[in-house]
Amino acid sequence: MPKARETVLEIDLNALTHNYNYLRSKLDKDVKLMAVVKAFGYGSDVAGIAHKLTELGADYFAVAYTNEGVALREAGIETPILVLHPQSSNFKAIIDHCLEPSLYSEFVLREFIQTAEKQGQKNYPVHIKFNTGLNRLGFAEKETGIVRDLLKGSEAVKATSFFSHLAASEDWREREFTLMQIHTFRRIAIKLYDELGYRPFLHICNTSGIINYPKAHFDMVRSGIGLYGFGNDKPEDEKLKPIATLKTIVSQIHQMEKGETLGYNRAFKASKPTKTATLPLGHADGINRQYGNGRAGVFINGQYAPIIGNVCMDMIMVDITGIDCAEGDEVIVFGGPQHAVEFAAKGNTISYELITGISQRVKRILVNN
Ligand SMILES: *Cc1c(COP(=O)(O)O)cnc(C)c1O
Repeated sequence: MPKARETVLEIDLNALTHNYNYLRSKLDKDVKLMAVVKAFGYGSDVAGIAHKLTELGADYFAVAYTNEGVALREAGIETPILVLHPQSSNFKAIIDHCLEPSLYSEFVLREFIQTAEKQGQKNYPVHIKFNTGLNRLGFAEKETGIVRDLLKGSEAVKATSFFSHLAASEDWREREFTLMQIHTFRRIAIKLYDELGYRPFLHICNTSGIINYPKAHFDMVRSGIGLYGFGNDKPEDEKLKPIATLKTIVSQIHQMEKGETLGYNRAFKASKPTKTATLPLGHADGINRQYGNGRAGVFINGQYAPIIGNVCMDMIMVDITGIDCAEGDEVIVFGGPQHAVEFAAKGNTISYELITGISQRVKRILVNN
């Protein structure tokens, strides 16, 4: 792999292939795999990974917002795309770009039908979302009559799928609750199958659902974090490969005397002679202040260098006392010797937040393409 000469997020497409194949191996062969690529592909490189996932055979993509779906179309992706949380002001753009909306309330279902009718659509594919316990988005079980009447009342749309989302699929202590969600979803689907006279396909599992609830894969699963190499627990993390490595370089080295201070608000005070390195990334790049003052660190030439002082907007400083390194040397923030889950834990967060938080200022590089 190339040595970094500035701050870069390296995206390893071999690791993506490995993760895709691992998740596929958990599925019966007729179960579809929807790749969730919202938030720039969980902070990676959405166009790069979407093309790779298309090549690997992903059946569907999912994004959160309409503009993310439009960006995928503009990048040349022709696979069906589910927009999980479209806003009604974007419904025309959804149709213009052949995106498929998740419709989760009477209001959005009515609004979308109206737009589809105005656009002269027939059987436009939509996905109906049910709330089975997450209490975030979705029709309640008692609203199935509304769904039936609205779907039956218009030729402009047709339900391609019914889906729901699990609240705690990674948590074994919540197994009973998860099974209740799955049962509720099945009950809703069966009732609507009867009343509608056709069978939209069904999906409820995210990555941890795929792993922990093999009997709930239904017709399709939706995987995000697993594709990026995280399994939400240690044994699964070991089977997956994080696709992203955050690398930077040593910009400058300082020798501090005992008693000198470093950084804003003089938050670090040298209790002994201390060698420091300044690195070109900071909280504006997604390394937030939680990581500062010794809580997290980076690897330089295989050795751990703790972050000292406050994280600045564009820089961090690390303690390299006793580490053999020079200005221009490569630094690994996470990936390689430091698993992103461990790094995230030091900042009191989880893989999802760490990787989606790496800002767009950091250059993305695809490797093993
Ligand atoms: C983000 C999201 C997913 C993906 O979840 P992972 O835990 O990353 O696999 C699946 N479904 C919905 C509705 C989501 O919002």
